[in-house]
Amino acid sequence: MKSNFTRRDFLGSAVGVAAGLVAPGRAFPKAPAKAPAGAGLAVLGGSPVRTKPFPSWPVIEQNDEKGWMQVLMTGKWNRLDGHFAHQFETTWARLLGAKYALATASGTTALLTSANALGIGPGDEVIVPPYTFVATVNIVLLQHALPVFVDTDPETFQIDARKVEAAITKRTRCIIPVHLGGSAADIDTILGVSKRHKLFVIEDACQAHLAEWRHKKVSTLGDLGCFSFQASKNLNSGEGGAVLTNDQSLYEYCLSFHNQGRGRYNSGFGYVRNGANFRMTEFQGALLLQQLTRLEAQSRVRTENAEYLTKQLKEIPGILPARMYDGCTRNAYHLYMFNYDSAHFAGLPRSKFLKALDAEGVPASGGYTPLNKEPFLKEALGSRAFKAIYTQKELDEYEERNQCPENDKLCERAVWFTQTMFLGPRSDMDQIAEAIRKIQKQAGELVRSQA
Ligand SMILES: *Cc1c(COP(=O)(O)O)cnc(C)c1O
Repeated sequence: MKSNFTRRDFLGSAVGVAAGLVAPGRAFPKAPAKAPAGAGLAVLGGSPVRTKPFPSWPVIEQNDEKGWMQVLMTGKWNRLDGHFAHQFETTWARLLGAKYALATASGTTALLTSANALGIGPGDEVIVPPYTFVATVNIVLLQHALPVFVDTDPETFQIDARKVEAAITKRTRCIIPVHLGGSAADIDTILGVSKRHKLFVIEDACQAHLAEWRHKKVSTLGDLGCFSFQASKNLNSGEGGAVLTNDQSLYEYCLSFHNQGRGRYNSGFGYVRNGANFRMTEFQGALLLQQLTRLEAQSRVRTENAEYLTKQLKEIPGILPARMYDGCTRNAYHLYMFNYDSAHFAGLPRSKFLKALDAEGVPASGGYTPLNKEPFLKEALGSRAFKAIYTQKELDEYEERNQCPENDKLCERAVWFTQTMFLGPRSDMDQIAEAIRKIQKQAGELVRSQA
């Protein structure tokens, strides 16, 4: 670091990065000096609807610096010596209405800890959505279990709970519904199925901080619920995660497993099981406690803006915002998702629509690709470990079952905005809608152009 690097420089540079799942931060277009405002499409050389960047992420305020420095100066950087990670756990559990929260190094390790607590392993099948971040599937494969994909409900972008029961076999042990984008999966239907078939449920709430199902916080409804505090998420400590549960024995297993299989913290060499080190640092704990002071207010702003935008986008033919299930009483809006129908845009392909939006100063992403078709999946199933566990016939049959035609179509039509775009003034929403209407009006011209 330069010696004259001031705190202000630090804040200025650190916030310029839009991290995580979605497209990285882009340069925002500058208005050409002479072009009349709002005339031609920016992608064809006209002036963009917006030249101002959307709010940056993370938000960094003085309390964050204070929290961070407190840990630094005590020299107690590991949670076994300090109290910040623990304090975050009790605060987060209370806020969500869960009995127990265990902080972890990441959302992935929260899921992995959960899978181990439920004893998911070789020979088991775990039901997952194909439309999710790869971690949901990775942790199933790491346990040498089979991820069984259940197709997506294209209206909501969530796992189609009505199709879960048909995917259950004698080997099924667990369902991992993902509350994708911060909206809620149909938990009533999923819990009904899990009770009938005696299956475990791990809620992947990594995108759903403060989201609710019938006024209860998601992550507290299944056996275990998992969060991520990775840099792009709505609550952020760079990396980080948590497991939530109301079950004392599951909590104790998770606690032990994530701490090298020790019986209790500071129990020396009291190993009671095989485990790993997935502990959160004190720095993460302190930062989360500070970021937490803003989470509720930020969530409200996102919701107000998102609901306002939905009203406008519903009026645009060919733009279909993701529907929420009736039971979803609060959406965290980690992602704002909608279906794009090119038929209403003179056949303009989605990739060109995204490019045109970006040029108007509205960055958007095409979202996930179908996970059930990823080459890495085939590779994992062909590995030595899987071949030792499953017969070739079993692996072949498994592959045939993993078709998700609705999801395939959705992956071609989806468009996402990230949560940070919803943290500014309402006029930002007007400009998003304006940019889309502008592209729609001139879509024919854009289709005929080379852009
Ligand atoms: C981010 C995310 C994870 C993984 O969290 P990390 O903290 O990045 O390990 C898992 N599932 C979903 C749905 C996510 O969005």
